[in-house]
Amino acid sequence: MLKNLPTTSQEIIVWAWSEIEPLYKDLEVRPLNASNVDSWLTDWSSVGERIEEMYSRLSVATSINTADKEADGRMNKFLEGIFPNAMAAEQKLKEKLLSSKLEPKGFNIPLRNMHSEADLFRESNLPLLADQQKYAIEYDKIFGAQTVKWEGEEITLTRLALNFQQSDRARREKAWQLKAERQLSDRKAINELWQKFMAVRSRIAKNANKPSYREYAWQQKLRFDYTPENCKSFARAIEEVVVPAATRIYKKRGQALGLDTLRPWDLVDGWFSRPSPPASQSPLKPFASIDELKAGVSSIFHHVNPVLGGYFDSTVAEGLTDLENRKNKAPGAYCTSYTSIRKPFVFVNAVGTHDDVMTTLHESGHSFHIYETARIPYIQELAVPIEFAEVASMGMELLASPFLTHAYGGFYTESEAACARVEHLEGMILFWPFMAVVDSFQQWVYENPRLGANPVACDEQWGKLWDRFIPGVDWSGLEQVKATGWHRKLHIHQVPFYYVEYGLAQLGAVQIFGNALKDQKKAVADYRTALSQGGMVTLPELFKTAGARFAFDPEILKVAVNLMEGVIGEMEAKI
Ligand SMILES: [Zn+2]
Repeated sequence: MLKNLPTTSQEIIVWAWSEIEPLYKDLEVRPLNASNVDSWLTDWSSVGERIEEMYSRLSVATSINTADKEADGRMNKFLEGIFPNAMAAEQKLKEKLLSSKLEPKGFNIPLRNMHSEADLFRESNLPLLADQQKYAIEYDKIFGAQTVKWEGEEITLTRLALNFQQSDRARREKAWQLKAERQLSDRKAINELWQKFMAVRSRIAKNANKPSYREYAWQQKLRFDYTPENCKSFARAIEEVVVPAATRIYKKRGQALGLDTLRPWDLVDGWFSRPSPPASQSPLKPFASIDELKAGVSSIFHHVNPVLGGYFDSTVAEGLTDLENRKNKAPGAYCTSYTSIRKPFVFVNAVGTHDDVMTTLHESGHSFHIYETARIPYIQELAVPIEFAEVASMGMELLASPFLTHAYGGFYTESEAACARVEHLEGMILFWPFMAVVDSFQQWVYENPRLGANPVACDEQWGKLWDRFIPGVDWSGLEQVKATGWHRKLHIHQVPFYYVEYGLAQLGAVQIFGNALKDQKKAVADYRTALSQGGMVTLPELFKTAGARFAFDPEILKVAVNLMEGVIGEMEAKI
């Protein structure tokens, strides 16, 4: 057994590489055989868990107070002095385990992943991966520098976008056009950067002996349970089943706004997604203080399941949440893991909106994964594929949705809750076609790398896909803005192929929701059992345990969309 491991969080965050290195060295030189592999893994895991927890604790410290110079300094020290060394040391232990040919119990999936990563690893790719990282930063810089003059003031596009929620249509259009014009003025820069991305990716794939970057990305993302062909089937199924449903939603919202056709500036976030709420509808005000948010969410979770409610209560009681928005706090929301103690930390920026309620439900769904896997022995078994990690969170949004009303200690009247649930379900339906555009575009790019590296061909392909999947919105006269939509989807540039995961997870979440409509207790029990498997079984097995099918066919989408439209209809009757 290793000695000198830090035991408290105070000790963990000041751990120095000079203290960590001997522990890795011990593991590296210790003879490894069938009789001691379990204790060797336990020791390895206990070091890895603490390093992961150190990073999480430092991230939390820097994000809950962006002005905390000491936390910043510690984080930089970690990123420079510990992280790269720990990665290299981890790599050596992986190689040691693989070359031992030992197959410890419960380690099938971690071993499969390690084999795959080792197979893909090329020394010659390290500088290219670093180049790719630099291009990603350049991409952020281009978008970060975009500002416009709006009513005499220089503002960012994020602030400008607040105007899309205005009921004054002319003003919405003016803001939208201004944003589009500003983004189009960087067209050349993005196109040039794209060509650099494509060139470096083709070299990365070649170095790893892969026929194309797509095969590389597939293996790198550990996608063992579905193929590019499956993704194409999924897109076709979405076209057949979801696109008509999405078009019905656009039509309905158009009517509510008194419009024959929706234009892009009639959509809340300006580019795709949710149609604006009718002007008559005032925004929901679910809570006035963070204590009210906590109390409401706790009560909702207790109605979903007493154990889950208990998890949320202890997260709050143990100071493992930071929910309110304030000055010097990083934006966004997340749930991270303090892996050595198997506890979550939930971070939200709540200001009193319905989105804050949904975000808290979502991130708590992730936190339940950490509680349910607390008994899994090794850190390597905790790596849940993202396609299922998001089932835990999106599934929880849906499982919690019947309990949003005052009757369950929630936030809303019957009619308010009904509005919120309609918006949620419609948003989910509208997401699938957009996801299909993003995924189909990338399939095309890397299947046709020469055309894919040509921005003119990319524009044309994106425009075609847009017309095919999102016909419910009128873009006439805005062809250039429409065709360059791929510029503005950062995943395409920075994390290629990472997107279909959300579409697949959403389909899993809806199936669990459907089960709960029939038998709530069993559906939640199955959900919890699936969460407790962590990363120890395959993706289809995780879905199956949760009571869902991991699939891409129109039949399963039809069941999902019918169910969602059914609930939307029921809710509309209550508004
Ligand atoms: Zn999530």
